[in-house]
Amino acid sequence: MTLSPIFDAPVSVLRRALDEKEISSIELTGLFLDRIEALDPGLNAFITVDRERTLAEARAADERIARNETKPLTGIPLAYKDVFCTEGMLTTCASKMLSNFVSPYDAHVVSLLKQAGAVNLGKTNMDECAMGSSSETSYYGPVNNPWEPGHVAGGSSGGSAAAVAARLAPIATGSDTGGSVRQPAAFCGITGIKPTYGLVSRYGMIAYASSLDQGGAFGASAEDCALLLSAMTGFDPRDSTSLDRPTENYAAAIEAPVSDAARPLAGLTIGIPKEFFPDEMGSEIRAAVEEALAQYRALGASLRDIDLPNARLAIPVCYVIAMAEASSNLSRFDGVRYGHRAAEYADLVDMYCKSRSEGFGAEVQRRILAGTFVLSHGYYDAYYLQAQKLRRLIAGDFQRAFAGCDLIAGPTSPVTAWVLGSMSDDPVQMYLADIYTTPVNLAGLPGLSHPCGFDAAGLPIGLQLIGNYFSEARLLTATHRFQQATDWHLRRPPVSAPAA
Ligand code: GLN
Repeated sequence: MTLSPIFDAPVSVLRRALDEKEISSIELTGLFLDRIEALDPGLNAFITVDRERTLAEARAADERIARNETKPLTGIPLAYKDVFCTEGMLTTCASKMLSNFVSPYDAHVVSLLKQAGAVNLGKTNMDECAMGSSSETSYYGPVNNPWEPGHVAGGSSGGSAAAVAARLAPIATGSDTGGSVRQPAAFCGITGIKPTYGLVSRYGMIAYASSLDQGGAFGASAEDCALLLSAMTGFDPRDSTSLDRPTENYAAAIEAPVSDAARPLAGLTIGIPKEFFPDEMGSEIRAAVEEALAQYRALGASLRDIDLPNARLAIPVCYVIAMAEASSNLSRFDGVRYGHRAAEYADLVDMYCKSRSEGFGAEVQRRILAGTFVLSHGYYDAYYLQAQKLRRLIAGDFQRAFAGCDLIAGPTSPVTAWVLGSMSDDPVQMYLADIYTTPVNLAGLPGLSHPCGFDAAGLPIGLQLIGNYFSEARLLTATHRFQQATDWHLRRPPVSAPAA
């Protein structure tokens, strides 16, 4: 199926079309809903789509546009990862446990985007409870990679990434605990940013590991991510880790004039950690990333080698901490107040056991068990406390590195999208694929992935840029300049409707 320009348009072009009344939000949204209906059966990127509700939001947006009460996202359709609570709408976290949960309130991010007039196209598929790197553990079945059905879309925000890549939604939200925005962005050939911890409120974003979870944005380009992220950030007193600082307009920041058009990145120093380029790294990924780095240099950036000596410890550290926090966060799902409750049980304890055993899939249960173990008396010091100490060392590595560079670059993932099911029997192998993304969450830093090439099988390769705290504008600007000079972000997968 060929893309008509409307599906392929950047948000700024959709904005102009809406403002100039070339198209209404109802019409635009209807086109995306039709496209979801035609193509999503082959991708499984969405869990919930509610046409009437979506069109009612589009109608309200059109009224705002008619009254000239327009904000940058008014009337623009977008998709939400199903980890964000949406009032009056099913919010499942891709778990059987929440398969009957209609949220009574909106997540802070959803409230902000509603206030901005954005139109909710639907809730996207993901790994159950955001635990995974492939979007295969969903109660609703796996997400397919739009570039090659039969391959994973990455995870845990695989549905949002696949939806944006296949242009079922212009932009989408995600959440990132150990890479869940950046890695699916890389696997699906789009741009995704995870901001500094605390910039996006976690209120109403179903908790996985609270000290690592952070909402993020997906778009085809840095420009689209900048528009979405600008509307998602903002202080929220309901999240105790929300940062009270002025919001930034990233979309305006990336358009700042440059003094030397031929070398728009002059003055930018990018650190290259040797730990992110091990000998055993696949040659296609290495070649694509190195070529992108050469492009950054051509645009005026200087590259220098740096060390992140403790980054290699990030997998065990991140997983110990994430599982510990998850075991505590997920204790709220007990079958009493909301969510799945077993039909038959002998007594209260039996009701807890049966409800949780039936409601959670194998990977979630594995993590609750491991998390409970590392927090238990006698093991807390050996695992959890140790992990917290190493977390501090990893964060310290970054601060030392940023004394000598502005951004850090490397591959987003050591692999490209694997075949569905091929890693399911070996969870640790899958955890290891998060080696380049997890250090960033442990340090609370912002990170971004943008497309930079393809492997021989035609699957996308992503480049990760990491910045110091609050350097979102710098990350997005560097990517924007790269994307103005290259066309990786303009490539589209050959998505077609499944045979009837
Ligand atoms: N892949 C990591 C995990 O399974 C991170 C997931 C995420 O970022 N939500 O925990």
